[in-house]
Amino acid sequence: MARFRIAYARINQETNCLCPVQTTFDDFRSTHFLEGEALARACDADGYEVPGMFRRVELAGFRAALAEGDDAEPVPLFSAWAVASGPLTRPCFDALNDRLEAGLKAAGRVDAVYLALHGAMGVRDLRDPESRFIETATRASGGAPVMVTHDLHANLTEDRVRGALAVISYKTNPHRDHFARGRQAGRLLLRALRGEVKPVTAWRSLPMYLGGGTTLDVLPPMLAVYARLHLAERLGTALAASVNMCHPWNSDPGLGWSTCVTTNNDRDAAERLADALAEMCWARKDALPPVFADATTAIAEARAARVARKLGAVVLADASDVVTAGASGENTALLRALLTQAPELRSYAPLRAPHTVAELWPRVEGETVDVTLGGVLDPAHSEPFPVRGRILHKRENPGFGRTVVLACEGLHLVLTTGPAITIKPDFFTQAGLDPWKADVLVVKNFFPFRLFFAPLARKTIYVKTRGATDFDAAAGLTFDGPMHPRDVVGDWRGADGRRRGQVGPSGTRVG
Ligand SMILES: [Zn+2]
Repeated sequence: MARFRIAYARINQETNCLCPVQTTFDDFRSTHFLEGEALARACDADGYEVPGMFRRVELAGFRAALAEGDDAEPVPLFSAWAVASGPLTRPCFDALNDRLEAGLKAAGRVDAVYLALHGAMGVRDLRDPESRFIETATRASGGAPVMVTHDLHANLTEDRVRGALAVISYKTNPHRDHFARGRQAGRLLLRALRGEVKPVTAWRSLPMYLGGGTTLDVLPPMLAVYARLHLAERLGTALAASVNMCHPWNSDPGLGWSTCVTTNNDRDAAERLADALAEMCWARKDALPPVFADATTAIAEARAARVARKLGAVVLADASDVVTAGASGENTALLRALLTQAPELRSYAPLRAPHTVAELWPRVEGETVDVTLGGVLDPAHSEPFPVRGRILHKRENPGFGRTVVLACEGLHLVLTTGPAITIKPDFFTQAGLDPWKADVLVVKNFFPFRLFFAPLARKTIYVKTRGATDFDAAAGLTFDGPMHPRDVVGDWRGADGRRRGQVGPSGTRVG
């Protein structure tokens, strides 16, 4: 019996259109790029799928689903992952798209394709790049069905829903079900190829980029929405059900939350559930994200938290410069405030400063230097900041390149060449600093750091300065009509109808 040959690939980058640091093909190459047999080995049960980041995620889950039967042969194409940042250059997009096309053409007969896509990728002067990958996969495979998984911060579009056999998103925030979603996609795809099910999909698009409070799946107000998704899948009402809470710094004018439901050949049931989920989400639109402290308030709180500092550290999360949501990591506002307002506190803080690292690299440890930090990668969100400091350590780091630790009174700056993912305390350890000795640790992350910093974080304060990951910054983007919460939007159905091609274009901005 001929086995189903199923090709698989990952193209993952979350784009923040407010970040001016362009993403190039080199950024994928230096972060994560595997192809062919090397990718197949990385997705094996004892492999490491995205080295240094994720051991077993979507592609391993997909491969595990195929291994449950004996009628499918996985065909590895490539896996490309870059840290969230500014939009991809057009040559970068073309290189990824051409590679997908060439890989599929070289693969011979292919019965289906699985694409693990982030869903919130942006490319300069090109709308909805991920639908192009789906189109390319369809064309280059000679019309084979294309199964897609997304992050739940995806911005879904009509072209993707039409172009894919189904689109399945993560159901956890912070994300921890990558493997389960890849496996779900693999199982559904196989059942469809065997003729056991006939997937039909309905979706809804909401003119809303913020809502749902903290947007955590395990807490109200989103808990009930996720319970509904899980129940529909468990009861078999839906083969797959997803809610996408979007990435609010995406330049697509059709930005918004969305719901997506795939059933077994039951159009009405898919429409009903997609609609009901959309109503549930809309009912949560006024639960906005928490308001964060300004730098002065946060520093005063950190200073007052004597016991917390003695027993561990106070963690300040720089919510305006979240590197994992695409900010440059070059925002100097909080650091300047720490140096001017609390030089007596021992603070450890990351700053992406490739030019300063290059300037300091020839100097020796222990030397006192005068440098100007910031103002290069993202000048609009990074005011230049002159400091005098002593070089404590110089390190080569495989993840973010050359690193220099500069001590400016109590402020210890960890200057990195590449984007610094400060999710784990070992970011500081690898730079030569002991996080237990700090009063204050600055991280540039929204949530996952809380899990890893829990042993030493006695107090965590979110700080807003001004940057590419401010919730209110999304209000300056161009949308295809009134958008909650920037504008007063009475009903979601007008925008939804337009976005799904049900009614003609209309709608004017009122805010
Ligand atoms: Zn996400």
